[in-house]
Amino acid sequence: MSDFDSPEKNYVRDFVARNREALACVSDSVFYFGELGMQEHRTCELLCSVLEEHGFQVERNISGFPTGFMATYGAGAPVIALHAEYDSNPTNSQRSGVTEKDEIVPGAPGHCEGHNVNAAVLVTSALALRHAMEKFKLRGTLKIFGAPAEEQLISRPYFVRDGYFDDVDLAFHGHILDELKTDYGLIQNASISVDFTFHGESAHAAMWPWRGRDALDAVVLMDMGVAQYREHMRTTMTAHRVITNGGQQPNVIPALASVWWYFRDSTADGARGLFEQAKKIAQGAALMTNTEVQFNVRSAVWPVLGNQTIAEVVQRNIAVIGMPRWTEHEQAFATNLQRQAKVAEDGLRPAVTPLLGPSKQIPASNDAGDVSWKVPMTRVWFPANVPHIPFHHWTGGAALATSIAHKGGEAGTLAIATSAIDFLKDPELVDSAKRSFREATAGTPYRSLLPAEQEAPVHVNEAAMEKFRPLMEPFYVKQRPHFIA
Ligand SMILES: [Zn+2]
Repeated sequence: MSDFDSPEKNYVRDFVARNREALACVSDSVFYFGELGMQEHRTCELLCSVLEEHGFQVERNISGFPTGFMATYGAGAPVIALHAEYDSNPTNSQRSGVTEKDEIVPGAPGHCEGHNVNAAVLVTSALALRHAMEKFKLRGTLKIFGAPAEEQLISRPYFVRDGYFDDVDLAFHGHILDELKTDYGLIQNASISVDFTFHGESAHAAMWPWRGRDALDAVVLMDMGVAQYREHMRTTMTAHRVITNGGQQPNVIPALASVWWYFRDSTADGARGLFEQAKKIAQGAALMTNTEVQFNVRSAVWPVLGNQTIAEVVQRNIAVIGMPRWTEHEQAFATNLQRQAKVAEDGLRPAVTPLLGPSKQIPASNDAGDVSWKVPMTRVWFPANVPHIPFHHWTGGAALATSIAHKGGEAGTLAIATSAIDFLKDPELVDSAKRSFREATAGTPYRSLLPAEQEAPVHVNEAAMEKFRPLMEPFYVKQRPHFIA
């Protein structure tokens, strides 16, 4: 890799080069922990302890999340936040480095997107920056956030609501992909995640059905109501659900039934409007079935908005970093995996992605959205997985503890850390990011979509993780990561 335009950035480059093994160790450790959202106890402890060993002050349990943390280093302005997620997904257990479906533990959760690499990039960027700040006497504060349960869009709106970003000047979010790129403008959709629970009365379904008030009927009627309403939804809106409680056995009329919905749109107001309509439909369903309805918002996130100033800074550094040099073996692995996934067999990407204009908004969401409306934020995508393979499918997990993931993670770390250096060194640049943030958000003031008193659903996935953790433990990485300043 050629030289950067400053000794601080060259230090970051050399830091990443001499800490390759440690980055890979964090990434692989989190991969084999395979912890579901809100149950990332081992992951969280590993990241916190590494940051503490290098002089970060760590606050655990932020916003009441047992697996969330904020680690702080330095003092004064600018305050730069790095944040990332590290949760796995249910039933996504997959051995890494093989090109056939092969579960590590049958039925267990696992990483099949790559949030394990996000965790490694977060920690390595933090350490590279912290040591560069000390060596070059750079003033400023780093705030490193561990964000639980991204797959359920939960934690960051709570962090923002609870004031953790109030003094932050700008933020970086690193996420795995198969490209080295950044983007700006509206990147992802808003989403509101809600449980609707209907309360009725049980009865023997054959003997005295007229005594029963059927909560499952209400769930079914709500489903029909939303289905009818789909004709009138804007084309940017989507709604999807699972029935989380449909009763126990057919001869007992269910007194309790619940359905968990996601309502999405390209704007926060749109998602809010769709949720309001769904509440009316739920009330209608309750009225028809003589039941009562309660709803509980699990989380609610704004669309992700990328900041143009930060993106342009990141892109300049990406041009120097370039793509990892892939070996023939890595290319062959990628092509084989693509064949298995039945996607284009064109291997790993040879070149970084240019920044050609505002992003195209995709219908998925990420709970980083709220951060991006609170402070200027940019997403850095890094090439740690194989192009075109579908996330949340076994092929999405097959490369996640290989050299492809490690090299991609190094590229992501470099892009974040060198760009943060640019802002640490130049207060004008920080002001410029804030100006473009004000322009992009003018007329759309941020207010949380979360109900004010809403508490985080911290017990999600407890039973699943308790069941599988003992079976997954034998596969854990035995070494601890050792970073050298
Ligand atoms: Zn993700």
